[in-house]
Amino acid sequence: MKKITEKNKLLSHINKAKKIVIFSHHNPDADAVGSSLALYLTLKKLKKNVHIILPNEFPAFLNWMPHSNKIIIFEKQKETSQQLIQKSDLIFLLDCNAFKRLGTDGLAELAQNSSAPKILIDHHRFPEKYFNAYFFNDKASSTCELIYQLVHHLKLEKNLDKKIAQCLYTGLITDTGSFKYDSVTPETLEIAAHLLKFKINHTYIQQQIFDTYSYNRLKLVGYALSQKLKYLKEYNTAYIALSQKELKSFNFQKGDTEGLVNYGLSIKDVVLSALITETDKMIRISLRSKGNLDVNEIARKHFNGGGHKNAAGGQLYIPLDDAIKTFENVVKSIRKK
Ligand code: 5GP
Ligand code: MN
Repeated sequence: MKKITEKNKLLSHINKAKKIVIFSHHNPDADAVGSSLALYLTLKKLKKNVHIILPNEFPAFLNWMPHSNKIIIFEKQKETSQQLIQKSDLIFLLDCNAFKRLGTDGLAELAQNSSAPKILIDHHRFPEKYFNAYFFNDKASSTCELIYQLVHHLKLEKNLDKKIAQCLYTGLITDTGSFKYDSVTPETLEIAAHLLKFKINHTYIQQQIFDTYSYNRLKLVGYALSQKLKYLKEYNTAYIALSQKELKSFNFQKGDTEGLVNYGLSIKDVVLSALITETDKMIRISLRSKGNLDVNEIARKHFNGGGHKNAAGGQLYIPLDDAIKTFENVVKSIRKK
C-alpha cells in the first residue's frame, strides 16, 4: 500500500488544537503504549492539554514506562473518558486502522462520533477512510517508528529526550522481535541508533519486557509447549489452543500468553503458527507466518481481524472446540492451494 504522510495537514491540526486525546487499540501492546506515550510527551512539550485513553489495561510489564501511570483506562474510568472526549478538539488513533479496534464497550462510538478532527497514525494495512489526516505506512516496522518520523517531519526533533526515546525504543523492539522481523529496514536501525544516543538503558528495557515472567507464566509456557502444541506437519502449521480453565490453573494475568504464538514458527518447516485462547467474551486468535504467507489476509477473511503480512489476529464468537475445528479447516483449505 502507498504511504500517506500529510505533514502539513497534521501540523495545522496540532497548531489549532488545545485539548487532545490519544487512543490506541484494545489489549494494548508495547507499540500501542510506547507510541501513545511518545506522542503524549511530545505534545505536552508544545503546552497542549493531552490525555491517553486506552480501552483496557496494558500488560504490567510496561508499568515502568515513563508517565504510564497517567494513562486513562476506559474500562475503569468511563465517566472521565467521556468528559475528556467531549471536550477534546483533536483526536489521534494510533497503532490500529479503525475506531472499531477500540473494542465493543462503547469507546469506539464515543471516539468516532466526537466532533473533533481525527488523525490516524498507523502501520496496519487498509486504514479506514474517515480520518481527517493520515500519517500511514504499512511498511513501517512499528507505530513508534512512525512517531519518530513524524516528530522530524514536524521539525519537533529538538523535543526528543530520554523519556521519549525509551518509549519509542520499546515499540521498536517489541514489534520487530528485537530487530529480527522482515519489517526491519536500514531506517529502523538508524532510528534505534539515534534513540540509543539519548543514553537509554536498552538492556534494562529488554529485561523489563522479556525477563519479568512470573513463575506461573513460565510454567504456562512449559505446559503449552509440552502438552498443547499441535503440529500439522502436512500443512506446515503448528498451533496451541488454551481454554479459560487451563489459563486460570496457571493464575493467568494479562500479557502472560504474549509471545507464545512465536514458538510454533521455530519448528523448521512450519510457516504458519497460531495461538487460540478462550477469554470470557470470545475466542482470540493470534497468527504468525514466515515468508510470503499472508496472515493478515487469513485473519480478515476468516477471523474478523487483520494485522500485517507476518503477524495478525482476530476473534471468533463460538465455543473453543468449534474455533479449533474452524482453524484446522481454514488451514487445510489454504495450504492445499
Ligand atoms: P497479536 O497476535 O499480537 O494480538 O496481533 C498481531 C498483529 O495483528 C498486531 O499488529 C495487531 O494489531 C493485529 N491484530 C490483532 N488482532 C486484530 C484484530 O482483531 N483486528 C485487526 N485489524 N488487527 C488485529
Ligand atoms: Mn504496532
